[in-house]
Amino acid sequence: MMAFPTVTDLPSIPECTACGACCFSRLATYVRVTGDDHLRLGERAEDLVWFEANRAYMRMLDGHCAALVVSKDTGELLCSVYETRPQTCRDLLRGSGACLGEIHTKGDRPLIALGRTR
Ligand code: SF4
Ligand code: SF4
Repeated sequence: MMAFPTVTDLPSIPECTACGACCFSRLATYVRVTGDDHLRLGERAEDLVWFEANRAYMRMLDGHCAALVVSKDTGELLCSVYETRPQTCRDLLRGSGACLGEIHTKGDRPLIALGRTR
């Protein structure tokens, strides 16, 4: 069973593909998409981006970014647009304070999505 770390448990930060916490939110406006982000997403932007007035955001689906692929078979959480993901996702570095905060507040959500509740 996967254990998510606390702030005092740095060495055991999971690989992102076994975590996915920062891709989860109940907010529709969670991941901002800038003009540059939209261009970089290319054809995927049509399905993955929605607009509110003149602002763009990644679509959310089942409590997480619609670009996240949750694989119950392998237990992996993969960003399907990793190479072209929005800047805000690029800026959230694994192991940073922001990352640890995401794991602390939302680390249970990927497990629930995977059907692997503790
Ligand atoms: S950056 Fe941090 S919170 Fe996001 S998936 Fe990776 S380990 Fe999890
Ligand atoms: S674009 Fe990728 S990294 Fe960013 S929130 Fe969506 S799934 Fe996560």
